[in-house]
Amino acid sequence: MNASVLVINCGSSSIKYALVPSEPDQPRLAGLAERLGSADARLKGVDSLGKPFTQALGGADHTRALEAILHRLEGRRPIAVGHRIVHGGERFTQAALIDDDVVEAIERTSALAPLHNPANLEGLAATRRLFPELPQVAVFDTAFHQSLPPRAYRYALPEALYRDHAIRRYGFHGTSHAYVSRRADALSELEGGAWLTAHLGNGCSTCAVWQGRSLDTSMGLTPLEGLVMGTRSGDVDPGLHAHLSRQLGWSLDRIDEVFNRNSGLLGLSGLTNDMRELEAAESQGHPGATLAIEVFCYRIAKSLAALSCALPRLDGLIFTGGIGENSAQVRERVIGLLPHFGLQLNRTVNSEMIRGREGRIDAGGRQLWVIPTDEEGQIATETRQRLAQSREETDT
Ligand code: ADP
Repeated sequence: MNASVLVINCGSSSIKYALVPSEPDQPRLAGLAERLGSADARLKGVDSLGKPFTQALGGADHTRALEAILHRLEGRRPIAVGHRIVHGGERFTQAALIDDDVVEAIERTSALAPLHNPANLEGLAATRRLFPELPQVAVFDTAFHQSLPPRAYRYALPEALYRDHAIRRYGFHGTSHAYVSRRADALSELEGGAWLTAHLGNGCSTCAVWQGRSLDTSMGLTPLEGLVMGTRSGDVDPGLHAHLSRQLGWSLDRIDEVFNRNSGLLGLSGLTNDMRELEAAESQGHPGATLAIEVFCYRIAKSLAALSCALPRLDGLIFTGGIGENSAQVRERVIGLLPHFGLQLNRTVNSEMIRGREGRIDAGGRQLWVIPTDEEGQIATETRQRLAQSREETDT
C-alpha cells in the first residue's frame, strides 16, 4: 500500500522536500528548490530511479515551487504532509495536526524565531492551498526538548522575563537528537539508554537523552547558543554585546549578523565554514584552519562533559550530522579530549565510518556510535504517529 508522507522544510528562499514511503526499503523522491524569488530559482533532486535532475524555475515563489515539486512526485499521492517547524515555544510538546488555531499559535511564536517561523508558515499556507484535502502535521525542532527540567531550561534572569516574555532555553535539532538516540536504543538493545548525542552539521548542538527524553541540550532561546558552528559563534560572554555597542558603536543588527554569519569555523579560520576544506587546509599547514578545528573540537568535548551532569549514568556517545558522520578526525579529537569518560576508540573502524555508514566505533568500554541522522524520516514517523493518535481520539 502506498502510504507516503510528503515532508516539507521551508526556508525564506528554499524548500527541501522528501516523499517518504512507509517501507524503509522503498526509494525516496527528494530534492531542493532554492534561490526562490530570484531569476535563477531552480529545483534540484532525484527521481524514483535515483537519477538527478535540475529544473529552472525562473522567479518562482514558494507556491510555484511547490507546484513544480508536485509534478516531480511522479503521480504518487501522499497520505499527509509533515512540516518542519523550527520553533514551537512552550505550547508544542509533540507534533500537532494543523488547523487555524495551530497556525495562529505558530505565528505567535515567530518573535522567538523571526528568521525561521515566518518562512515555515509561508510553506504551510501554500501547501494547505495546494492540498486542501490532505491532513497536515507540524513537527517542531523544539518539541523533543520540552522534557528539560527547569534547572536546565531557565536562565538566571529576572523571573518576569520568563513569565511575561517566554525567555528560556528551548533547544533545537530535536528531530535529529530524537532519531539518533532512539536508533541507538534499538541497535544496542538498551531500553531507554543514557546517551550524549552530538549533531555536527552547519548548525551544531549536543543533547543529553535518558529513557528517550531530552534532559539538556546546548542550544538555547535561539540556535546561536552553545557549540562553535559553521558561521555561528556559539557561546560568547553575554557582556560582549554591550562592549561592542559601546566601544565600537556596533548596532544590534550588525552584532546579530556577525555572530550568526561571519563567526564560527569561518570567523576563526578566516578561510571557510566547510570542515572538508578546513581539514585539507590544516594538512597544508594553515594555522587558522588548525585553530578553528581545535576550538571546534574542544568546545564539543566541553559541552558533552557539561551535559553528562544531566544523566544518571552514561551508556555512550553518538555522532551525527555532516561532520559527525564523516569526519573521523573530529570524532577522534573529541574523544581524546574526554580521557576521564572511559572511552576507547577503535581507530580503524572510526576511519572507515564515512558517507552514511552506521555503526559502533568503540573498542570496548562505553559505546561510541556513528548514526547518520534522518530528520525527514523522523518527521514522517511523527506525522504518522500524530495521525494515528487523532484517529484514536475520534474513535473514543
Ligand atoms: P546542514 O546542517 O546544513 O544540514 P550538514 O549536516 O550537511 O549540514 O553538514 C555540513 C558539514 O559537514 C560541512 O562542514 C561539511 O564540510 C561537513 N562534511 C561533509 N562531508 C565531510 C567529510 N567527508 N569530512 C569532513 N566534513 C564533512
